[in-house]
Amino acid sequence: MSRVLVVGGGTAGAAAAEECAKQGIDATVIDRLDEPEPPWTSWPDLMGLEGQSRTVSSPLHQARASASIFGTEVVAVHNGEVVASNGSRFRADSVVIAAGSSFEPPTAQGIRKHGSFVLDSAARYEEFGSASASADRILICGEGARGLQVAERLAARGARPSLMVSCWQRGRPSPPVLGVVSDAARARGISLGQGRVSRVVGLARTEAVIAGGDVVPCDALAFIPRRVPVAIRLAAPPGRSGGVLVDRYLRARAPGVFAAGGCAELDGSLPPRATLVDEPRLSGRTAGANSAGRNITIGSVRSWSLSVLGLRWSRTGPDAPTCESLGMDVREVGRRWSGCSACSLVYERGTGRVIGAEVIEPADSPSGGLGSSASGSATLRSLAYGHHGSSDISAVSDTARLGLTSWSGC
Ligand SMILES: Cc1cc2nc3c(=O)[nH]c(=O)nc-3n(C[C@H](O)[C@H](O)[C@H](O)COP(=O)(O)OP(=O)(O)OC[C@H]3O[C@@H](n4cnc5c(N)ncnc54)[C@H](O)[C@@H]3O)c2cc1C
Repeated sequence: MSRVLVVGGGTAGAAAAEECAKQGIDATVIDRLDEPEPPWTSWPDLMGLEGQSRTVSSPLHQARASASIFGTEVVAVHNGEVVASNGSRFRADSVVIAAGSSFEPPTAQGIRKHGSFVLDSAARYEEFGSASASADRILICGEGARGLQVAERLAARGARPSLMVSCWQRGRPSPPVLGVVSDAARARGISLGQGRVSRVVGLARTEAVIAGGDVVPCDALAFIPRRVPVAIRLAAPPGRSGGVLVDRYLRARAPGVFAAGGCAELDGSLPPRATLVDEPRLSGRTAGANSAGRNITIGSVRSWSLSVLGLRWSRTGPDAPTCESLGMDVREVGRRWSGCSACSLVYERGTGRVIGAEVIEPADSPSGGLGSSASGSATLRSLAYGHHGSSDISAVSDTARLGLTSWSGC
């Protein structure tokens, strides 16, 4: 019987092992942790749970992996062998790398000062949750989407945090979407702004930050780092984000090696350099099935959805600045359709092909969100008139009609 080794027993690795089991293939999971961690029911939810037991269990507990090897860190996969940092070597017919992502270390000076928390693990979320309970001025800085989730949890406890966004890892919100987000944040007592903290100042503990020449006082600071793929050495160059570069079958450029989840970087994806961090189960199952001999592909357009501030915010494909940085000739059309709904579309100026789409709407809305704009082959015209009578994608089709009125090629 052929044997598959799965490196990493998180969401993607567990899904890969589960799929191998379904195909009747013997899969062994290797993880650097001594025990499998629970799935991401959400780190932000851990704030305020201090002292309470966490009831979530690891995805590996549900997956039917044939065997697991814990406490073993894999450093390389070479010639069909998985090489561990302790020198152990494991041989397999195929390998699925699902080692996930890690957090980019912050560069701001003084960020480890007492009262500052780099939110890079479940434990740090819990510590920040405790410390912020007694703080007057709470500042959250760093990556925007996760920052909003953290700010929302604090506001629900009666705090009035400020959020200073230095980057939006999954693309910056278009102006109409940002308007909806900012208003929803303000309604909860969250002030939202842009800025990058260069220094944390204070004598014994955090008292303020320096950002863009301004001094912003705070007594509890949370820094939300960007996520980057965990690097595993292969006899093939890594992707531009440092991940294992894979094709649409999730095959790496090394024989018998597949990758999935946050460490896998899809070649030719839109947006470019995207990893599969937001689709750990889908990609894990695909890599697992293909390592067991199937031939399943995944699409090149990456989608993402987040529920925050009572809103559901979804995106497919790249934002306009990313397209422009790639030299693509694109335009963006967008509008806020109501207090809590907005849509924007990024399309090719010459052809009207829709490259990226973004929708925000109430989280309980029954609408289909991005609808068929996520297909990768939609045009302004197909989105505007392709779904007569459908209310499912009204924000998308209304925005596409708006785009058609100004698009010179129509
Ligand atoms: C408690 C908790 C809460 C989380 N909350 C969120 C959240 O709110 N939002 C969010 O986006 N993500 C969250 N995550 C992360 C999220 O689970 C995953 O990043 C995401 O599901 C992608 O899955 P993955 O399988 O690619 O990576 P992961 O689920 O991170 O799995 C990677 C696995 O590989 C193992 N590994 C890493 N390097 C090596 C190595 N060199 N050798 C062997 N094993 C290795 C890790 O120990 C880990 O078990 C959370 C994770 C945990 C544990």
